[in-house]
Amino acid sequence: MFWKSIFSAKSGGEQIRTRFAPSPTGLFHIGNVRTALFNFLFAKKYNGKFILRIEDTDFERYKPEYESNIIETLKWLKLFWDEGPYKQSERLDIYAKYLRELLDSGDAFYCFHSKEAIEKERAEQIENKKAPAHHCEFKKIPLKDAEKHLTQEKALIRFRMPVDVEIAFHDLIRGEVRFNSNALEGDFSLAKAEGPNKFFPLYNFAVVIDDFEMGISHVIRGEDHISNTPKQILVQRALRIPMPQYAHLPLILGSDKSKLSKRHAAVSVAEYREAGYLPEALLNFIALLGWNPGTEREVFALEELASEFDLNKVQKSGAVFNTEKLDWLNGCYLRQMSIDQLAERAIPFLEKNKLITKGNYDLERVKKILTIEQPRLKKLGEIGDRRLSFFFKQPEYEPRLLIWRDMLFKDIVTSLKISLAALQGIMEIEFMRANLENVLLKEAERAKNKDKGRLLWPLRVALTGLEASPGPFEILEILGKIESIGRIEKAIKKLL
Ligand code: GLU
Repeated sequence: MFWKSIFSAKSGGEQIRTRFAPSPTGLFHIGNVRTALFNFLFAKKYNGKFILRIEDTDFERYKPEYESNIIETLKWLKLFWDEGPYKQSERLDIYAKYLRELLDSGDAFYCFHSKEAIEKERAEQIENKKAPAHHCEFKKIPLKDAEKHLTQEKALIRFRMPVDVEIAFHDLIRGEVRFNSNALEGDFSLAKAEGPNKFFPLYNFAVVIDDFEMGISHVIRGEDHISNTPKQILVQRALRIPMPQYAHLPLILGSDKSKLSKRHAAVSVAEYREAGYLPEALLNFIALLGWNPGTEREVFALEELASEFDLNKVQKSGAVFNTEKLDWLNGCYLRQMSIDQLAERAIPFLEKNKLITKGNYDLERVKKILTIEQPRLKKLGEIGDRRLSFFFKQPEYEPRLLIWRDMLFKDIVTSLKISLAALQGIMEIEFMRANLENVLLKEAERAKNKDKGRLLWPLRVALTGLEASPGPFEILEILGKIESIGRIEKAIKKLL
């Protein structure tokens, strides 16, 4: 197999080590799930290690809640890491050592341009339709002289971009990728001062050091990082450290084939979790984004994904995010569950929607309700909506919903009274589906033109307040005699 040959040729049987390296600058989103999942699957498939690294060097955008959101979401998804979380902010000494090396070798230099000056230069270049690039004059200053200024001025450390150098790498998804150094935005920054002579690493530098120090064999990340890769390779070359293998995953697109954004669908995982998607369904769905197992099969448990997964079968072109497919998959997972498992997952949603109170509900009754709903359920969040809430509280509805075909209000009153009398004749302990069906169907068959709807429609609406719902017999059993009779009486009052 193609991949196997690369694997043995390039990594010579070394341990596979992948990493997920999110920045805590926003809520965990669908793209993050895919990156984390593919790294996880790849590591598991080859018996390797999956490492979590928090890239927390952007102080301005960092928030502790974003960091806890990363940890919490990975745990919810059950994408457990083997090492970490490492935090870049706790590794400053490591970066300092490599910065020193780059400065001493002349591959890096101090830049004293202000942020404003750089922004101005960039704006002018864009205005003149030139690709933005900063070729820094400070690289001409001898290191010793530049260092004298470090205590007074805020500096950046930049990489000295070589002129006209070819940078090529083999991407495991995209094949050969080539760049020329002249097209790489000039002398890019490696670190910025956070105090006199104290430097904080920036992305393109820290990532190289960490991937090396952590022995990362494969960097699997979004295609939006592909233009960073040649810069990272240049840093590796300057430090004479080996290049990991790269795999850049295709963009995730919305239905109109533009990059997935809030306009198309929810992007933060928290929203999916709240809507009642199951983590296993979400992972299954996301695994299929851009990856095709090569068969018709679509439902895979996480362990099955790990053995089936193959970077070779990841497509190059963008992957369209299709919410209907996610709903369908989620429904499949919900139907596969036993009623006990479903109840365990559903109860927090019932509590959240205030349909039951924690520690104070009838579990058997909840299970009966779920048994009725399971074949239709797409997401657990639906458990709180109108379709199910009538089981827990009195329904609100317009009297005209009680009307069946050409029936008049007075006919409906009569019909409901017949149901009422029939139900009153059934003892509370016999209020069970089979008995109820038996008694009520007999009554229904006596209706005008043998039209059973004349009895059953008003009855069902009186119980549920809904145009569409499960049938009246199972609902009656769950509601019980007293509640059912109360609801029918209320319906009659609505019509008088
Ligand atoms: N912190 C970067 C991000 O969240 C990681 C990129 C990479 O995987 O190299 O996009």
